[in-house]
Amino acid sequence: AKENGRSHFEFFDKPLERMAHFQLELENKLRAAIKKHELSVYYQPQVDIREFKVRRVEALLRWFPEDGKPVPPSDFIPVAERAHLIGKIGYWVLEQACLQVKEWQSVGIENIRVAVNLSAQQFVGKKLVEDVKELIKKYGIEGRLLEFEITESILLEDLENVKEVLLELRKMDITVAIDDFGTGYSSLKYLQKLPIDSLKIDRSFIRELAENPNNKSIVNTIISLGHNLNLSVVAEGVEDKKMVAFLCERQCDFIQGYYFYKPMPVEEVTKILAQES
Ligand code: C2E
Ligand code: CA
Ligand code: CA
Ligand code: CA
Repeated sequence: AKENGRSHFEFFDKPLERMAHFQLELENKLRAAIKKHELSVYYQPQVDIREFKVRRVEALLRWFPEDGKPVPPSDFIPVAERAHLIGKIGYWVLEQACLQVKEWQSVGIENIRVAVNLSAQQFVGKKLVEDVKELIKKYGIEGRLLEFEITESILLEDLENVKEVLLELRKMDITVAIDDFGTGYSSLKYLQKLPIDSLKIDRSFIRELAENPNNKSIVNTIISLGHNLNLSVVAEGVEDKKMVAFLCERQCDFIQGYYFYKPMPVEEVTKILAQES
């Protein structure tokens, strides 16, 4: 980058150029997808292990292009973040969640809490608090039926700002879970300082749970830590019976994973919830 003339060509090196092009293309496709209503929300149940009942669901974004294969959120959410589209998309997911809580209540499906994932960008300033206040009022739902899932990286941004937002959410009875717990910059300071309600044990620790003694210890430790701090603990990515047995024995509170349910369209999850209620 020192020699002016050359650095230009170094920067637009072939692979990089291709990657930038791919990103831009995906960004444009995503903008079009929003207009064409190609995004939808799927819901994955979380099973309460004490009663083996679904009490909560996680809202997960899906993109099904009219022409072509589904694009996974791990591909398009980073693009949405870079293009500053995540605020708009995130608001839409939140509104879908509120609408769903209201619709379920209108058909007698009560007390199902919907968890919504938040990106760091949605956590800046007062926008989130104002938005959610408005939506709760618009749909006439209780805040306690909403949960936000945030990652440890959000907590690092600006602790005072984050604390303020979390306190406002708590005033509305909205709960907050730390997603992918244990994979971030594990400072335990925020657990003690912030109003948080649950920990979600990351899938990477649940994988190979039965075979890997280290994973067993980590999962054990997270469950104890959570319970000692009066937090509920959710395990995600639970795929087999052995994992369920281990987690039940250790009294993990909620289980989410393919063993019980995959993420599914709203009509399907509604059937499951209706059978149970
Ligand atoms: P996440 O929040 O950690 O969500 C859990 C992911 O694990 C989901 O992937 C889910 O489908 C998958 N999963 C659940 N159970 C199992 C299992 O038993 N086995 C395996 N192998 N996977 C399982 P998905 O739906 O592809 O979402 C990926 C990530 O995209 C999410 O990870 C989240 O970080 C992000 N995301 C999804 N929807 C939203 C959204 O509305 N807003 C934001 N900001 N991020 C979202
Ligand atoms: Ca999540
Ligand atoms: Ca997660
Ligand atoms: Ca994850």
